[in-house]
Amino acid sequence: MKNCYFELNEEHIYCPKCSQKVALSYKLRELFSHFLNDYFTFDSKIGRSIMPLLTKPGYLTEQFLAGRREKYIQPLRL
Ligand SMILES: [Zn+2]
Repeated sequence: MKNCYFELNEEHIYCPKCSQKVALSYKLRELFSHFLNDYFTFDSKIGRSIMPLLTKPGYLTEQFLAGRREKYIQPLRL
């Protein structure tokens, strides 16, 4: 967009039209928003994961092995 007004999306690392590298700040902003998203998702998973961890040892591992992995923090991250 900056160099030749080609419409870029987040998958473009280089402009397909003029091959100029996509601005770094764009990528950083994206990374930052992923980080924030991760952080807050992580945070709510902590709340959901901490009680079973303290009161029902093995429960989270059970859930993890049963494939219910999105709802809780992964054992290794915890
Ligand atoms: Zn271009």
